[in-house]
Amino acid sequence: SYDVLIVGAGHAGAQAAVSLRQRKYEGTIALLGDEPDHPYERPPLSKEYLSGDKPFERLLIRPPAFWDERAITLLPGRRATHVNPIAKTVTLGDGSAIGYESLVWATGGSPRRLSCTGHALRGVHAVRNRADVDRMIAELPGVSRVVVIGGGYIGLEAAAVLNKLGKHVTVLEALDRVLARVAGEPLSRFFEAEHRAHGVDIRLEAKVACIEERDGAASGVRLIDGEILACEMVIVGIGIEPAVEPLLAAGAEGDNGVLVDTFCRTSLPDVFAIGDCAAHANAYAGGAVIRLESVQNASDQANVVARTITGDPQPYHAVPWFWSNQYDLKLQTVGLSAGHDTVIIRGEPATRSFSLIYLKHGRIVALDCVNATRDYVQGRALIGLLAPTDHADLASPAIPLKESAA
Ligand code: FAD
Repeated sequence: SYDVLIVGAGHAGAQAAVSLRQRKYEGTIALLGDEPDHPYERPPLSKEYLSGDKPFERLLIRPPAFWDERAITLLPGRRATHVNPIAKTVTLGDGSAIGYESLVWATGGSPRRLSCTGHALRGVHAVRNRADVDRMIAELPGVSRVVVIGGGYIGLEAAAVLNKLGKHVTVLEALDRVLARVAGEPLSRFFEAEHRAHGVDIRLEAKVACIEERDGAASGVRLIDGEILACEMVIVGIGIEPAVEPLLAAGAEGDNGVLVDTFCRTSLPDVFAIGDCAAHANAYAGGAVIRLESVQNASDQANVVARTITGDPQPYHAVPWFWSNQYDLKLQTVGLSAGHDTVIIRGEPATRSFSLIYLKHGRIVALDCVNATRDYVQGRALIGLLAPTDHADLASPAIPLKESAA
């Protein structure tokens, strides 16, 4: 039994353990996760780890000795299957049970699978954990053509890396633009053009019928119009399902994620949830209940939970931010653009350094900054403010953002 049992040893879970000790918490802490490794950073999986530019050791969130030194018990390679909120125990896959005073659920999500024939063939990959990417890397020498299903950040990042590695890459996006769920149209069109200029075949409104098989492995992707795109590798990047089944089965409120309040408390006593799996009312989404899939949200909610457990609660109110690297493009996003009614283009996309400023009812709600770190840094302070009615200053890169909105 532990005073704090953290289930899920990813970004949120690891940071919760670190924050508890930083706040001088003296109780026992266990960090349980179903992966075999020490806690590591996930974003490089579709970037520098896939490309071979960063070895696994450099992905570790803390050096291996750190956890022992802070008396944080790591319980790797174990999966939590049931929660009993009355007995205050968590049951593992092997049937054993662990007791807790406080339970922190930080399980992230599992990649959504295709439902069509061939979805489980050898050569079909998700990009969620180290094992996924190690399997891809092992296959790459025999691969010359890759089809990426899903034009979100992870699919596009993987496409950029594989293109750089000399593979012929096709990206299939079901909607009429890439990044449709997370960005405005000018950003989608910019990234489509960049990928095409590098030789990636971007297909919009492309609907997958099935994965073709040869000798037990994927040999191509068939579209509903009958066309077959021959390939040796398929990457599926179509989002995640939050891993909250055991908590919902135990009676926690939620559906797409487990519902938490501003202190990251679920509806079950002494059970908290943080990170990708936590559905929360977000001030930057106008109070709508959302899940955020970002390192920022995982870290900030981990800090909130550590404060709550150590008796110094502070509501969650962090500005959302995110980044993505593709080719030599560094995208930095701050705020949430969903529901915007106006987009101001600041600078010229053709220069490959520009920003998009999103407004909703006259207020600045988000910025997407491409190779424009100064806009990102200065733009953070503008989130939530009323934009000047004349947008000319915001649109002019010559005028620093900190001077153009007040
Ligand atoms: P995770 O980090 O996924 O950790 C959850 C852990 O819990 C996993 O190890 C999982 O295996 C384990 N687990 C699940 N269920 C159980 C169970 N029942 N029992 C035990 N263990 C369990 N964010 C950014 O901000 N910028 C980026 O550039 C970016 N790039 C990304 C690229 C990729 C390829 C991926 C996959 C994600 C990226 N993200 C990025 C998102 C970011 O990594 C996640 O938002 C973050 O990891 C969420 O942290 P988490 O702790 O909630 O979940």
